[in-house]
Amino acid sequence: MKGHFLKYYMDAIISIFRHPRALFMASINVLTINEEPKEKRDLVKIVDNAKSYFPSETWDDIYYIGKLILDHDVKITLSEDCLGAFLFEKLISRIKRIRDADDLMNVLLAVTPDPIVAQYHSFNGKSFVRTVYLVHDYVAENAGVVSFFKINDRSSSKVVAHGLGHNKGLRHHAVPIDLMHSELLRLQVLQVEGFCRVCLRKLAQD
Ligand SMILES: [Zn+2]
Ligand SMILES: [Zn+2]
Repeated sequence: MKGHFLKYYMDAIISIFRHPRALFMASINVLTINEEPKEKRDLVKIVDNAKSYFPSETWDDIYYIGKLILDHDVKITLSEDCLGAFLFEKLISRIKRIRDADDLMNVLLAVTPDPIVAQYHSFNGKSFVRTVYLVHDYVAENAGVVSFFKINDRSSSKVVAHGLGHNKGLRHHAVPIDLMHSELLRLQVLQVEGFCRVCLRKLAQD
């Protein structure tokens, strides 16, 4: 009987080493940036709702690690309002630095109600034109930023789920199949209010 137990135990050890990722699920560390005290919506709850779109074995826990108060990088004018915004490149490198200072394997997700903008320059034949656009989500291997600027709570959770989907290796769908649709914020009706079978299979393999 004792030998049997030992064998079982050995099998368990072997399977731990064979399936390391099945046992060590990634957790999500959430950091809020410039969350207003009067803010009605719960930014951490939004991330929690995003997690519920995934199979339960995809993510471990969500840890709220703190608030960051940051000065804006630029001023933008949007329908006659002048608002402070973050520059995407600057913000993401800042978040990556914070992430790298931590030895844990967790994904660091920074969420903010403020706008994040990115810019690119293009040549129109006569001169260089600067185009500025809003960034809502960007989640790389272990760090990401999500802006909830001008989007409601439901859409915010979907944007976070989309970003976390990228983190798990999911690619865009050109058509509105599910949350990985490239025009997620423009098109509200999806065939699947979550992840399609192809995405779920990919998540299971990961
Ligand atoms: Zn995307
Ligand atoms: Zn899909």
